[in-house]
Amino acid sequence: MTMQRRYRRGDTGPAVAEIRSKLVLLGLLPAGAHAVVGSGDASGQGGYADAVFDDSVDLAVRHFQQQRAMTVDGIVGPETYRHLDEARWRLGDRMLSYSIGHPTVGDDVATLQQRLLDMGFDCGRVDGILGQATERALREFQRNYGLGADGTCGPATFRALDRLARTVVGGQPHAMRESELLHRSGPSLAGKTVVIDPGHGGADQGVVAHGLSEAEVVWDLARRLEGRLSALGVQAYLTRGLDSDGVGEEDRAAFANATDADLVISLHADRNASPRASGVSSYYYGSGSDRYGRRSPTGEHFASLVQRELVARTGLVDGRTHGKAWTLLRRTRMPAVRIELGYLTNTDDAARLADSEFRDHAAESIVVALQRLYLPPDEDVPTGMLRLPVFT
Ligand SMILES: [Zn+2]
Repeated sequence: MTMQRRYRRGDTGPAVAEIRSKLVLLGLLPAGAHAVVGSGDASGQGGYADAVFDDSVDLAVRHFQQQRAMTVDGIVGPETYRHLDEARWRLGDRMLSYSIGHPTVGDDVATLQQRLLDMGFDCGRVDGILGQATERALREFQRNYGLGADGTCGPATFRALDRLARTVVGGQPHAMRESELLHRSGPSLAGKTVVIDPGHGGADQGVVAHGLSEAEVVWDLARRLEGRLSALGVQAYLTRGLDSDGVGEEDRAAFANATDADLVISLHADRNASPRASGVSSYYYGSGSDRYGRRSPTGEHFASLVQRELVARTGLVDGRTHGKAWTLLRRTRMPAVRIELGYLTNTDDAARLADSEFRDHAAESIVVALQRLYLPPDEDVPTGMLRLPVFT
């Protein structure tokens, strides 16, 4: 049913009965209310045709409009009716799938989006519209949980979502806020704020091997990154100076929070007892033990972009991305990623890290990943392909 005209206090008829029943369904109007014209038998079929848009309906409509951030006028026109219609859908009421040109809209779609975000599948913002990003996230969810990745939300997917929803605790507001912030801030890097955290420093030199010190290597890398970001209009802050002593992870996180940065990039190099261990790994906030635990979906996404670009552009071995509850990752309010760029205890990695051209490529990779993070999904480019302004 589409509503052409506008209904208000005093109106009667079948359309008003329809409006009343929707409001009852949403719990905004008591179910038992008769409110029919005249004193006739309210239980009779004729009662519906005589439904009245009375004061209680007016109040319920205003309440509903306020809830949905619409103009509050107590009048049910096409827009309010559409919202009433969307609001009645509960996840599981109907099959959901992406349809080009006629996206499915409703509160069940919003619930689906929230659940996907809860679990770290980035479907963009929660808007109740089943668009491309939601479909992509749905397919990814299905793939991850061994369901047919058909992008259609049917009984098997509803069951999986229902089962998993109970295991996801507390992640939702965080996930939603992060995703909202990411998309609200737009694709341009100019005007963004990034905290660059060169690990260690001062008396703490981190890994020292093959004539290199981790603190110095990551300091130099941080400066190269800072230069590139500044040239793109990004406000970049470093968590320490060249020689600052004893800056703990807590302090670094507090510093990042104080700057209200969009993102934190922490730079380290790794060590291992085995000289054969080599490669780059990226870490984001995620509770390692519980697959459905809290996590930073944007942090995870950025980590995967950084990791892919670094591997493609530097040739380092792919040590993959990992969720960790490390202090800096956990205590920062914004998404944070820690990069362990090669093993100083490995001869090949150390030789690379000593090379200034390699450091330029590494800095470039991180900037490219940052740019990709803010591009709308349909404008993203394959790994290794994005070209930024040249800095020489
Ligand atoms: Zn380190």
